[in-house]
Amino acid sequence: MLIGKHLIAGNWVAGDTPFMSSPATGEALAFAVGTPAHVDAAVQGAEAAYPSYSALSREARAAFLDKIAEEIDARGPEITAIGTSETGLPAARLEGERGRTTGQLRLFANHIRKGEYLDRRFDAAQPDRAPAPRPEIRMMQVPVGPVAVFGASNFPLAFSTAGGDTASALAAGCPVVVKGHSAHPGTGEIVAQAIDAAVKACGIHPGVFSLVQGGNRDVGEALVQHPLIKAVGFTGSLGGGRALFDLCARRPEPIPFFGELGSVNPMFLLPAAVAARGAALAAGWAGSLTMGAGQFCTNPGIAVVIDGAETQAFIDAAKAGLAKVGAQTMLTDGIAQAYRAGRDRVAASAGVQEVLTSVCDMRQATPYLFEVSGADWLANHALGEEVFGPLGLVVRVADFAEMQAVAGALQGQLTCTLQIDPADYPQARLLLPVLERKAGRVLANGFPTGVEVVDAQVHGGPYPASTNFGATSVGTLSIRRWLRPVAFQNLPAELFPADLV
Ligand code: NAP
Repeated sequence: MLIGKHLIAGNWVAGDTPFMSSPATGEALAFAVGTPAHVDAAVQGAEAAYPSYSALSREARAAFLDKIAEEIDARGPEITAIGTSETGLPAARLEGERGRTTGQLRLFANHIRKGEYLDRRFDAAQPDRAPAPRPEIRMMQVPVGPVAVFGASNFPLAFSTAGGDTASALAAGCPVVVKGHSAHPGTGEIVAQAIDAAVKACGIHPGVFSLVQGGNRDVGEALVQHPLIKAVGFTGSLGGGRALFDLCARRPEPIPFFGELGSVNPMFLLPAAVAARGAALAAGWAGSLTMGAGQFCTNPGIAVVIDGAETQAFIDAAKAGLAKVGAQTMLTDGIAQAYRAGRDRVAASAGVQEVLTSVCDMRQATPYLFEVSGADWLANHALGEEVFGPLGLVVRVADFAEMQAVAGALQGQLTCTLQIDPADYPQARLLLPVLERKAGRVLANGFPTGVEVVDAQVHGGPYPASTNFGATSVGTLSIRRWLRPVAFQNLPAELFPADLV
């Protein structure tokens, strides 16, 4: 049952002022507005929890993660009901996302049980080395301290309260303070209730997890600037991420800000693939572009095609595929407004031609398709920016050299995709070294929506796809964001921390 309060170090705390949720369907509900005082109480709780939580055995932490997953599953119908109301996402999508969320928690439980993430290294002493003896050095990774987490509106479960950032930080041994997303405060609260139940069942220090609801931007600002917060995980827009990243950098003690931001995820369609299966590629693109009203950070917003005999057929097929998709409800009124503003910006850009237009208003989105020449795209960097929603832009390049120029001019991306047949491999070989400098994930013959949660995954990339190109927010490698290496020199074995060998 929803109570509209913050969860602060094991206590459900009311606020002085409420804010109303803005659901896609159903009634608006009241939630407590977060304040910097709530943030301070939550972070103090996290710091108090750090000594015991970080020293818990890996098995005990793993059991805690498993218990959170179990408690989330136990609240499945309740989560789906409030989640569909708040976001407008269909029940099947939210149920799938819940499975992904509990799967991530269990994946991290098993990951820390294995212990490889500690990356333990050992250099034996060399007492007889001349001219000076070498000391014994043992190294391992230790948790950084309390971590702040910001989720995104488009993944109210998998990138939110108990999403990948929270799961990986708790796995690493870091207490977590989540800043609740104001687009899904009820979903966030029910998930926080699940975590609270797991904390109590496992007998863990209650400061290990807090949820401070938003309703006001100063909550997030206070959180990233709190002196006891040691790192931030953020999933969301470039504008929001950049504002909070700058605050982190300006702190007296700057801290790492792991921002997973937006991307246009370009696809490069090479000639043999277009000739052999252009219509199928167009249909697949239309499906990927409109899935979930195009509200995916991996949405492939740009298709780069070399002008040739089959190019127009590809564009016509993409138009036909998109035209079949009707209006879909967007996550928030603000996102719907931003989508239409993005559409207007693209439509008004020099050289851009309309291929498919439609009418949408309120919180609805319908697909749009535009076309531009490679030369005009290269002359206007704004055409490489994300429009969050089901909008596609075909960049019709004159030849392969211009396709290489487009690839070279890209800003950092979460993904780049090659659509290729064997006859395209010589050109693909030339594009690959460019694309691997641009993206965290390079795909062949697929579509980037759908991010597998596995050991080898990278969901990140050079700025502005993320603020830290050395990191990923999906997959087991994401735990490294919450760890730092410490070398122990000549430490007596009697003093070794539990995981040091
Ligand atoms: P958002 O508007 O940036 O919101 C994300 C969070 O940051 C919210 O809690 C928001 O607070 C807070 N926030 C935003 N600007 C802030 C500021 N200036 N000061 C303090 N707090 C601020 O993003 P969104 O609409 O939720 O998500 C959509 C975006 O996320 C898209 O661009 C999408 O591509 C991207 N995304 C990226 C990934 C990835 O893995 N790279 C995954 C999913 C989505 P409020 O609650 O007050 O709004």
